[in-house]
Amino acid sequence: MSTAEIRRRFTSHFADNPALPHTAVPSASLLLDDPNLLFVNAGMVPFKPYFLGQATPPFPRATSVQKCIRTPDIEEVGKTTRHGTFFEMCGNFSFGDYFKEGAITLAWELITKAIADGGFGFDEAVLYPSVLDGDEEAVSIWRKVTGLPDDRIVRLPPKENYWSMGIPGPGGPCSEILIDRGPAYGADRDWDAGDRYLEFWNLVFMQDELSAVRSKSDFDIAGQLPKKNIDTGMGLERVAYLLQGRNNMYETDVVFPVIEKAEALTGKKYGARGADSAANDVRFRVVADHIRSSMMLISDGVTPGNEGRGYVLRRLLRRAIRNVRLLGYEDPALPELMPVSRDKMGETYTELHSDWERIIRVANAEEDAFRKTLQAGTQIFDLAAGALRQAQGPGQAAERPQMSGATAFQLHDTYGFPIDLTLEMAAEAGLTVDEQGFRSLMTEQRERAKADARAKKGQHADLSVYRDILDTNGPTDWQAYTTLETESGRIALLSGGKPTDVLGNGEIGELVLDRTPFYAESGGQVADAGIIEFDGGRLEVVDVQRPVKGLVVHQVRVVDGELTPAAKHFHAQVDQDWRIGARQAHSGTHVVHAALREVLGPTALQSGSYNRPGYLRLDFGWTQGLTPGQVKEIEEVSNNALRADLPVSWDYMTLSQAKDWGAIALFGETYDDSKVRVVEIGGPWSRELCGGTHVDHSSQIGTIVVTGEASVGSGNRRIEAFTGVEGFRYLARERDVVGQLTDLLKTQPDGLLDRVGDLVERLKSAEKEIEKVRVAQLLANAGSIAEKAIDVDGVAVIAARASGAGGNDVRTLAMDVRGRIPADRPSVVVILGDADEKVAVVATVNEAGRARGLKAGDFVKALAPVLGGRGGGKDDLAQGGGTDVAKIDEAISLVPTLVR
Ligand code: ATP
Ligand code: MG
Repeated sequence: MSTAEIRRRFTSHFADNPALPHTAVPSASLLLDDPNLLFVNAGMVPFKPYFLGQATPPFPRATSVQKCIRTPDIEEVGKTTRHGTFFEMCGNFSFGDYFKEGAITLAWELITKAIADGGFGFDEAVLYPSVLDGDEEAVSIWRKVTGLPDDRIVRLPPKENYWSMGIPGPGGPCSEILIDRGPAYGADRDWDAGDRYLEFWNLVFMQDELSAVRSKSDFDIAGQLPKKNIDTGMGLERVAYLLQGRNNMYETDVVFPVIEKAEALTGKKYGARGADSAANDVRFRVVADHIRSSMMLISDGVTPGNEGRGYVLRRLLRRAIRNVRLLGYEDPALPELMPVSRDKMGETYTELHSDWERIIRVANAEEDAFRKTLQAGTQIFDLAAGALRQAQGPGQAAERPQMSGATAFQLHDTYGFPIDLTLEMAAEAGLTVDEQGFRSLMTEQRERAKADARAKKGQHADLSVYRDILDTNGPTDWQAYTTLETESGRIALLSGGKPTDVLGNGEIGELVLDRTPFYAESGGQVADAGIIEFDGGRLEVVDVQRPVKGLVVHQVRVVDGELTPAAKHFHAQVDQDWRIGARQAHSGTHVVHAALREVLGPTALQSGSYNRPGYLRLDFGWTQGLTPGQVKEIEEVSNNALRADLPVSWDYMTLSQAKDWGAIALFGETYDDSKVRVVEIGGPWSRELCGGTHVDHSSQIGTIVVTGEASVGSGNRRIEAFTGVEGFRYLARERDVVGQLTDLLKTQPDGLLDRVGDLVERLKSAEKEIEKVRVAQLLANAGSIAEKAIDVDGVAVIAARASGAGGNDVRTLAMDVRGRIPADRPSVVVILGDADEKVAVVATVNEAGRARGLKAGDFVKALAPVLGGRGGGKDDLAQGGGTDVAKIDEAISLVPTLVR
């Protein structure tokens, strides 16, 4: 059965169920905003607000096939049969509707119903439902629904079968459905043998309220949830390879074509029976998996980078590229392999086709970049290897020198060299690697990453304070779109994250009001500034955030009086000028984005933005630098849009309506609001999903002055601009500079360029002239230096200092002095320069001198230790340097002794 058919049957089983129809919800982006998650890693993630009670579900039941990324599984890829970094999770969800019996019945029906009748036709004889040890309710339901004997229902400990989010909140027992794949994959009833007793569907019975979670098996249950929920996840790939009779998830109809293409490219055979075939098979699987995952990530808006999501993408891409290389293919591989994955995945995710140009450009740029560091890294490796061999004495040749763990780590960390590549190269070069040292540096790095992750989790725990406020008082009446001032009542006051009654003069705290006109930072727009007055005092608003959806929190400083429980009524007042500036900047961002797409084409897509009064910046996915002409054109198109005085308006609609309308949906969106807000400027010219505050007409932006365009990491560019009065101020500053220059150069603005060009030319020729004079002056001394030659055993010896001379000058002088001594007289000339607090030394020996066995190189070598440096060279001319200028005279006095 094809993957597409499995997907269809799953969705239909739930959506078209006559007794319990489920709403079919499309997959959310992999990049849903969640402080705990880098990527969506399960089907339930987009529904979290419903499970957490932060939002009311618009439907009692839902079903979805959700894109997932699980980065912790990267090491498993290709080694187990069942782990992909990307996979799709089919799920059904109940929000306070059916519970255990419903979930178990629905799942069992689908998997055991005959294929001819629309099911998956699994043989009951090999299916093993598992329950949480002690969940007798689940056991009896399983028995009732399936009629299976008791020993086929497996009881597993909490580590396996208790689900929570790792934080206080909902939790509950699970039932995993396992399928026995036979003794070839592990021992009888060894439930830990994941490839034998393969879990392909997990049913989570969300029934408990947890007050603390210390580990997977150590948590406190505070009570039962008032509304019990169902969350299930069935691995689409796992079911596909089971039903397709294949060994693993990389061999399904959707993934395998990439392996076939890689076989064609590399000339190696997947599943061959040769010496390195097992290793090669893992490489094939890694390639197929990683190509698909990276493509899906790029499609959802990730670009390769050095941290967070971008780093994951980079790692996946590089691992894929290297593995293709290890299979023996040296040319750029992504342009060959990714389209194969696109053709398969594009059947479901059509944006892979419509957005292909951008996706493949990002991928190719990363491959180009890696091919470059691959070279630089190889050089670093060669240098280190060379040094190691040199340091090795002749007697130790039998022992293989060891490359330090630090070098291997540097190669890994800076040049993206995975350790096994370094190991392989080392073996070829006759070296070993201090793997232990490398691993401990890696562990250190991982520990740091874990500590970061823990710190992040902590933030989440703190949110419970805000969630409590929201639960008790409901959402803030948020008036930012309609007014700049409100009369408000007090909801809560916090200090240091804890409720408090009083805030003294000068102190900072967090104030929650029932109603507010303040814009909370979001969508790239900074928070409003302003003041909040109360009877007997005044607060300055320092920041405004929305820590949980629906709740606006003002960070305030008491600037007047003292905030006590007596203050119950507040007058909240946004700073008008600030807000006007913010509106200009935010609308300006939309205008620049539209202009960008007009000039560069629709594949230029915003990847991030920031705007504050008077200033905006916009990051967008684009791999080349813009030409000055393009930048100018973007500015021109933007300002034409201001001049055209386009109307700005907004409307609420469903996400699919918004997409039909052509609104640009930037990644990171959730659909837990049934309505999204679309802001348009000039009708279809600019339509974006946006919650920001905007001007009413484009002309109110005043002006847009683009100040620059630059790279911000691989595949991303940044454009910056000033808006409104700041734009004029920027231009005024430039005019000021021009004014000062014209004064200084005594010319008109029009003549400025010629005048400066002229000056630069004159400066250049003056510098040349000075150089000539300098050399002439230096050489003028050559005669008198030559005259000071002393005779040592019939050799004319000259050693002299050239004050202020650097390497080139010293050499010129030395050659000149040598030329002044009769050719038949053996001679040695050593000149030492001291420019830039460094010693430059040149020695030269003429032919007659060399006939006496004197070598220029010996002189430089002998002086090097005295001068604190090194050097060497040929017999007739040698050069060196040093750091110890004070030792020059000592070196000079040594020269005659070196002749004897
Ligand atoms: P495993 O123990 O096999 O790693 P899991 O317990 O992590 O599985 P769940 O978190 O319960 O799995 O996810 C629900 C379903 O999603 C699983 O039953 C499986 O079918 C699928 N799944 C989980 N992780 C992966 C993965 N890395 N690749 C493919 N499918 C997966
Ligand atoms: Mg897992």
